[in-house]
Amino acid sequence: MSIRPVLLLGNPLLRSLCVRVRQYNTPDLRALVRDLADTLHDFRRRNGFGRGIAAPQIGDKRRVLFIDVDGPLALVNPEIVRSSRQMMTLWDDCFSFPELAVKLKRHLSIEVRYRDPEGKEHLLKARGALAELLQHEIDHVNGILALDRAVDSKHIVYKSELERLKRVSGRKEM
Ligand SMILES: [Zn+2]
Repeated sequence: MSIRPVLLLGNPLLRSLCVRVRQYNTPDLRALVRDLADTLHDFRRRNGFGRGIAAPQIGDKRRVLFIDVDGPLALVNPEIVRSSRQMMTLWDDCFSFPELAVKLKRHLSIEVRYRDPEGKEHLLKARGALAELLQHEIDHVNGILALDRAVDSKHIVYKSELERLKRVSGRKEM
């Protein structure tokens, strides 16, 4: 088990275009997936949020994601092959800037083609929460951060401030 430090906003590695994995089922790839899983679960225990992590967030430039929503899933070389025209607007957050919330738009549904660590190809159809999570993580392997997708610069805020404003106004949606 190996919990790795999560890189923070400003680290240039978060801006790298990651490279495709060419060899599957290797000890090295399995070790990366294990580290992603351990780091995600540790982060979630300590911070109370977190459903996915991308390899560049632990300083590895391979196109690998690990998510844990309805169970653990490792995605190697993920690619969005279809996206809905319909968009959703939401507040997003990220391990790499854990105190911030950013309002952005994502496609309501997508289809993602990926390989598992053994090299088998899969097609995942996702909608809503899973779709936005996958778009967030796939952005990471392209060096794109949620902040880049903010609807505007006024919608990058401290989470604590957002929560305070929600309490004061009694509104669920801001
Ligand atoms: Zn992130």
